Amino acid sequence: MPPEPPGPDKVLSVPLLFDGDNWHRGVRIGISRNGEITTFEADTDAQPGDQRVRRVVIPGMPNLHSHAFQRAMAGFAEIREAGGGSFWGWRQVMYRVASQISLEAMEVVATHLYVELLKAGYTSVCEFHYLHRDGSGGTPGAMSEALVRAADSAGIGLTLLPVLYQHGGFGTRPLDPTQQQFHLDTPEYLELRSDLAQRCGPQLTVGTAIHSLRAVAQPAMEMVIDGWQGPIHIHVAEQPREVQECLDFTGQRPVEWLASRLPLDQRWVLVHATHVTQDELGMVAEAGATVGLCPSTEANLGDGLFPLGAWLQLGGGFGVGSDSNVSRCPVEELRWLEYGQRLHTGQRNLADGAGQGTGRQLWRRSLAGGARACGRAVGMLGPGGRADLLVLDPQRFDPADGPDQVLERLVFSGNNSAVVDVMAGGHWTVQAGRHLLDGDLPGAFRSFQSELLKGPR
Ligand SMILES: [Zn+2]
Repeated sequence: MPPEPPGPDKVLSVPLLFDGDNWHRGVRIGISRNGEITTFEADTDAQPGDQRVRRVVIPGMPNLHSHAFQRAMAGFAEIREAGGGSFWGWRQVMYRVASQISLEAMEVVATHLYVELLKAGYTSVCEFHYLHRDGSGGTPGAMSEALVRAADSAGIGLTLLPVLYQHGGFGTRPLDPTQQQFHLDTPEYLELRSDLAQRCGPQLTVGTAIHSLRAVAQPAMEMVIDGWQGPIHIHVAEQPREVQECLDFTGQRPVEWLASRLPLDQRWVLVHATHVTQDELGMVAEAGATVGLCPSTEANLGDGLFPLGAWLQLGGGFGVGSDSNVSRCPVEELRWLEYGQRLHTGQRNLADGAGQGTGRQLWRRSLAGGARACGRAVGMLGPGGRADLLVLDPQRFDPADGPDQVLERLVFSGNNSAVVDVMAGGHWTVQAGRHLLDGDLPGAFRSFQSELLKGPR
């Protein structure tokens, strides 16, 4: 007889749990040593030896778009520049900060960020990583390694997306000096991605990313996506100016160009698909690609509003990301995703097509879209999924009240976090609102911010 498969390392017993699709009462979840859910039973009683949670549990949110180093500059670009405030002025501040990020600073800032993300309810993150070299040049692998170490010490699941960034604009315009830190030639890029792919494990996945249509020429795009099975992310149509430049250079709008020139399919995540026509939405929906929305950053940068209502009518998938990390909270992203639509249309509950509750629809759909973007088995609490879960504040959510409106109250009732405990990959990373790294980390982060305030040396 074949040997018995090993039993779960631990079993959680939970009175009320949302699995990502449906609510269940009396749940026992078995979790293996490597953080995978191995068994799931509902309508059952706790057994001796179970870890009893006694609270409401929901799946942790995947964060589908982050630039960790930008956490250091949150709130540092809020003074109107000469000539008017714009995305392009913000970008100059960002370049200045990027030039000050050493290898050590990258690890400190990213670790600090990943702890904050966990506390707010993100249990995995897609890191869209283009700051390949620190100010001293450095090797591209070292910056990536710093991000891997940061995710590892914080305990968050990581989809690392090394980014190809080669040009300063359409037509293979050369990079500006401020953009040189982002450059890799295509063989260097492929080597970095393949080195990182060797490191993949239960909490680390590697995807691929193209910075934007303006930063990479078509032959290089084709080289990096050809045969690639994992997720492919791109910043696609964030600003009206880049849409116009794309039209001027190619005669097509960005999404239109992408859909007609490259094999757009389920692997793709179109981040900031902000400026799209109804026809372009149809192309993306037909391809089965996911849209990446970052409402707090898109608002901060003055990008515009994605046409969510039209996208949902096409059955399109989406997830949310913290992007520039001005906010580190999935609740805030989802609330602003819906509020933007309300302000624009004068209607309410736009994301609730099925009449099941707007909070529930937003949470459920961004779990599914975020999971596709991560290329990891996250966003659902069931056998084969990662044990990524949030325990909600018992002062606000009593399991005895049942599931009605839990996710509506979570998303639409204010800014105090309702997340008290967080499990990521089977480990309790946050307990009673505290993370193990809470001691020294904020001090190291703040001293780096003090350096930033002094300006480049
Ligand atoms: Zn971005």
